[in-house]
Amino acid sequence: MAFEGGCACKNVRYTVSAEPVATMNCHCRACQYASGGAYTTAVVVPRGSLTIAKGTPKGYASKGDSGAMVTRYFCPDCGSPIYSDPAGAPFEVLKAASLDDPSTLVVGGALYVSEAQPWAQIDPAKPQFPKMPPRAG
Ligand SMILES: [Zn+2]
Ligand SMILES: [Zn+2]
Repeated sequence: MAFEGGCACKNVRYTVSAEPVATMNCHCRACQYASGGAYTTAVVVPRGSLTIAKGTPKGYASKGDSGAMVTRYFCPDCGSPIYSDPAGAPFEVLKAASLDDPSTLVVGGALYVSEAQPWAQIDPAKPQFPKMPPRAG
């Protein structure tokens, strides 16, 4: 196991068997709703590495920019956002604050700055993308 996490009330717990592939701040409108703030800090992990160890998160599905559905999971008891499952993607996306120890994360940059609030703080020293980063290869 690489790391674990869960929600504020501890009714939902998870384990992750791989290290994060990337950590990015996502400023898209859906992530604003999911976080209650200016952006979500998204911790990308390989699909299959995330295991829900306790509880049953509730999901809300909406259509993502790519046209595929994205289901955002949260604790039905305390409401903490936990992770997102973009259908068909080779990864899943944890909410940074759900990690037991988010303090060691290093944010690589900002996504969907085209939808960012004018009052959002964005690190000018790090890469910014209007939407998703262009696909490598
Ligand atoms: Zn909870
Ligand atoms: Zn987003």
